Amino acid sequence: MNRLEKIYEGKAKILYSTENPDHVIQFFKDDATAFDGVKKGTIVDKGVINNQVSSRLFQFLEAKGVKTHFVEHLGDREMLVKKLEIIPVEVVVRNVAAGSLTKRLGIPEGQILRKPILEFFYKSDALHDPMINDYHIDVFGWASAGELAKLKEYGLKINSWLYDFFRERKIRLVDFKLEFGRHKGEVLLGDEISPDGCRLWHWDTNEKMDKDRFRFDLGSVEEKYQQVYRLVCGEPA
Ligand code: UDP
Repeated sequence: MNRLEKIYEGKAKILYSTENPDHVIQFFKDDATAFDGVKKGTIVDKGVINNQVSSRLFQFLEAKGVKTHFVEHLGDREMLVKKLEIIPVEVVVRNVAAGSLTKRLGIPEGQILRKPILEFFYKSDALHDPMINDYHIDVFGWASAGELAKLKEYGLKINSWLYDFFRERKIRLVDFKLEFGRHKGEVLLGDEISPDGCRLWHWDTNEKMDKDRFRFDLGSVEEKYQQVYRLVCGEPA
């Protein structure tokens, strides 16, 4: 499958058209950004790792019956995916308090949540991805009632499957963000699932193994991404 034209460039990925109008190539860059693009940098080989980790996790979720945009891992930084009309809603699921939840509600970081929390954010860099709820999604038509139900069902099921997957590999899935899109009338899981969009802590030590190392200059960023790659793409411990 060959890359034809660049159709979109985001902060961490580029999309290219292919000969097949239903398929696009998702190219994973090493560029890293944080705080709405204010902090910029590079994480060496992040693109290769995120492509591998996402491919593995999409295959795992497909086997559980989740419909995803994943078609094929093409090479180091390229994944063939189904072309989506993106639903402009970020679905965040949390198992442990961290990030914006701690800031917004004053909950201490690391507090284990009694049950998962699902949140929605409106995908808009200009507005800094504001938090929204079901009513906003309905009234502004960002997703139909059926699609919204699917986002919630998928979000919680994916959380429980990924939580166990990571736990078997000594990683605590603290929280993560999912994006969905439409393809031929169906809702598919899109984007990527990688240490860029998940908080992953070592199960025993709580050491951070995700983009927070870059966000907060914690050091050893590449080493921790590599460790996640080995744990996710190798055999369970
Ligand atoms: N997240 C993301 N992209 C975003 C916002 C959040 O991938 O634009 C991920 C983030 O890495 C974390 C989870 O979603 O795993 C929850 O993020 P949170 O709301 O705590 O915001 P943050 O602390 O990242 O500002």
